[in-house]
Amino acid sequence: MSDLSHVALVTGGSRGIGRTIAETLAKDGFEVYLTYVSRPEEADKVVAAIEEAGGKARAFKLDSGDSAAIGEFFKEEIKGKVALDVLVNNAGITRDGLMMRMKDEDWDKVIRINLTGCFAFLKEASKIMGKQRFGRIVNITSVVGQMGNAGQANYSAAKAGLIGLTKSAARELAPRSITVNAVAPGFIETDMTADLPEKAVEAMLAQIPLKSLGQSEDIAAAVSFLAGPGAGYITGQVIGVNGGMYM
Ligand code: NAP
Repeated sequence: MSDLSHVALVTGGSRGIGRTIAETLAKDGFEVYLTYVSRPEEADKVVAAIEEAGGKARAFKLDSGDSAAIGEFFKEEIKGKVALDVLVNNAGITRDGLMMRMKDEDWDKVIRINLTGCFAFLKEASKIMGKQRFGRIVNITSVVGQMGNAGQANYSAAKAGLIGLTKSAARELAPRSITVNAVAPGFIETDMTADLPEKAVEAMLAQIPLKSLGQSEDIAAAVSFLAGPGAGYITGQVIGVNGGMYM
């Protein structure tokens, strides 16, 4: 085992699900590196909360839509400097709208941040983890990548693509003891779902056998398991955390 600190990198770790994943992995004993793009004050709060709880964390402004910047980040902050044990591809955005009215730029942006960005992180992480001959990668997809959703053609295509990417990467990286899995949340209470009209929330609840929206802790628990010692023989899987909404 190297003397380098053992880092879990969580993209979009400054709010919502990513924040809870970052705090949970810090409790699991990893030094957490989290990325954000627009709200440094939120990222600073997460770092402070982790440090207050006795953990270690650093925040980096790094746009998941900028593959060149992601390459630079690995060169500057990861390669030869830390042991990258865990990558959680969590950053994501929505730009919803019916397909016939969807602007090309909204299609492109969602694919770039939610899918191409994950590829860029995976590619860089696999070089480091490949040398280490160890790594755990968890991609946060969505139930709508599995079942589709009217008004989210761009988002569901990106999330379905991420499932394909997960399965291919799992096959490619298995010989180096790197596992790659996806967690597919259902509807989770975060800023992303906060502005949904009451009717839409009611319609969603009607589709959820467990009859409640999920919490970010539900997703973080699955990620913590996949990143931990008990999940070493699990790869290429999609774990639905969705209240039974899609089975
Ligand atoms: P959220 O509350 O909107 O938080 C998004 C996080 O991603 C923030 O930390 C944000 O940082 C960061 N981010 C956004 N664009 C970024 C970019 N270009 N580069 C780097 N960071 C970026 O979202 P959430 O609900 O926690 O969702 C987290 C993940 O779970 C996403 O992949 C989402 O698709 C997935 N998911 C969510 C739900 C749900 O119901 N909430 C369901 C299924 C899947 P800034 O604050 O700096 O912008």
